[in-house]
Amino acid sequence: MNSESLPAQNKRVVNYLRLSITDRCNLRCIYCMPEEGISFVPHDEILSYEEMLHLVRLATQCGIRKVRLTGGEPLVRKGFIDFLENLSNITELKEISLTTNGVLLKHFAADIKKCGIGRINISLDSLRPERFFKITGRNVFKKVHEGIREAERLGFDPIKINMVAMKGINDDEILDFARLTLKKPYHVRFIEFMPVGKENGWSPERFISTGEILAKIQQLGDLQPIEQNTLLDGPARRYRLEGAKGEIGLIGALSDHFCDQCNRMRLTAEGHLRGCLFSDKEIDIKTPLREKRPDSEIIGLMKLAIKNKPKSHGLFKSGPRKCVRPMTTIGG
Ligand code: SAM
Ligand code: SF4
Repeated sequence: MNSESLPAQNKRVVNYLRLSITDRCNLRCIYCMPEEGISFVPHDEILSYEEMLHLVRLATQCGIRKVRLTGGEPLVRKGFIDFLENLSNITELKEISLTTNGVLLKHFAADIKKCGIGRINISLDSLRPERFFKITGRNVFKKVHEGIREAERLGFDPIKINMVAMKGINDDEILDFARLTLKKPYHVRFIEFMPVGKENGWSPERFISTGEILAKIQQLGDLQPIEQNTLLDGPARRYRLEGAKGEIGLIGALSDHFCDQCNRMRLTAEGHLRGCLFSDKEIDIKTPLREKRPDSEIIGLMKLAIKNKPKSHGLFKSGPRKCVRPMTTIGG
């Protein structure tokens, strides 16, 4: 264990922070941000870049070594590249990565790379333009495709493609996504549909488990397991189809009990620190920050949030309880 890393409950070492830098987005994915009835966080309630940088510096004093920028869509926030450059100057961070829907990636990829960011996750739930439009509410498949190609051209490695599998919506494309790894060096990751936010269309009928996904993919041939590096890979179970350039990852957010290995905290767009996606327990660190409380006090709150990180999401004991906050503010 890193001497500065802090143990949470279950002796897990927490060293990874996911930062939602905005709750705004240029897509309207059916499972995340409905077209109607979204209430956005007022701009002045969202952490400024300066505040985020300060909090990340303090978080490194609590053992955080890896930061993922997410949202909402990180690339829609003005000044993102300058922020990224400043973040990359925090020498205590060993890794910075980004999750994006790829719509603006073609435009920003070179600048992102210049900031030293080489790892990127791109969300893509369909390889069919018309279906992509139905799922995301925007007719921009081509832009995402161009963004992925640009990331590949610039040598991002790995390029992870995240696909949220939903029964009756896109599960008939699971094999097409898996086949992509035969020709492309992408890491295609299948993510279980999660009941997050007040109304996101989740239902047991729409849910397809990673076990079922794996069984489907096995139709294509033997899947060789790849040894996991939990620090870098997080909870994905990794496999490779024989002769494939890329790999396949399965993220069983609900069915796989990876809580005992979970090393992450989340900082919400409005500055609350949260230990688990599925628990609405949060600690507000923006208010003391804006009240100019001493850093030692804020570090104390961060350490408390890490110590109190829930042992497990408990979804299978309590049933598929939904977390109330939208994914966009928490940072998926
Ligand atoms: N806008 C960026 C994007 O879509 O990649 C970053 C934010 S998004 C909230 C982060 C990830 O969370 C995406 O891969 C998205 O597919 C995933 N996500 C959002 N809602 C989800 C849900 N209900 N179940 C599973 N994954 C979800
Ligand atoms: Fe936007 Fe990402 Fe949510 Fe889709 S999943 S609505 S792209 S934040």
